[in-house]
Amino acid sequence: MTAMVYEEAGPALPGVSVTAPVIFGYIVNNRTKIGESFVKSKQNLYFCSMSTEEQMKKDLYYMRQALAEAEAAYREGEIPVGAVVVCRDRIIARAHNLTETLNDVTAHAEMQAITMAASGLGGKYLQDCTLYVTLEPCTMCAGAIGWAQLRRMVYGCPDEKRGYRLYAPRALHPRAEVVCGVMEEECKALMQRFFRERR
Ligand SMILES: [Zn+2]
Repeated sequence: MTAMVYEEAGPALPGVSVTAPVIFGYIVNNRTKIGESFVKSKQNLYFCSMSTEEQMKKDLYYMRQALAEAEAAYREGEIPVGAVVVCRDRIIARAHNLTETLNDVTAHAEMQAITMAASGLGGKYLQDCTLYVTLEPCTMCAGAIGWAQLRRMVYGCPDEKRGYRLYAPRALHPRAEVVCGVMEEECKALMQRFFRERR
């Protein structure tokens, strides 16, 4: 793996936010602990295993696509979570939450996207793919992401109540890289709007 690089945090690109406690950046999942202690000891730093501006631009671009899926979910009265799977710079799956439509609690955006990506590729493992999802996956989805051997995941806003990091921080593939905080505000705003309107 490439050597770790760390830089001064700050909004490197519009839409990429750094929030405290910072888990932002290119965090290698199985080294989350190192990442966390690192982050805690150096509050305003984030560390990267492959931080390039080009990668960040791509992450923003694909997260926008995931957000478009979340907006589709919103219009359908579904909790607005969207996901896309990217393989070698190509979107091979787009999906959003369909739990109401399908009357199925497992119909989360990530589950749909993983199934779609695997059938598109003709193989069940997605090692060369990146999953972009607007919300931190739950434990079920993190399990599926692990089973699919996805090596990279990018998510928008954290889910403090149901997110996998709380219950199953080791669910992903041990070498998976996790990036969070990409378009966090936009992803969160859509969720908040949805729940506000439901009240
Ligand atoms: Zn889920």
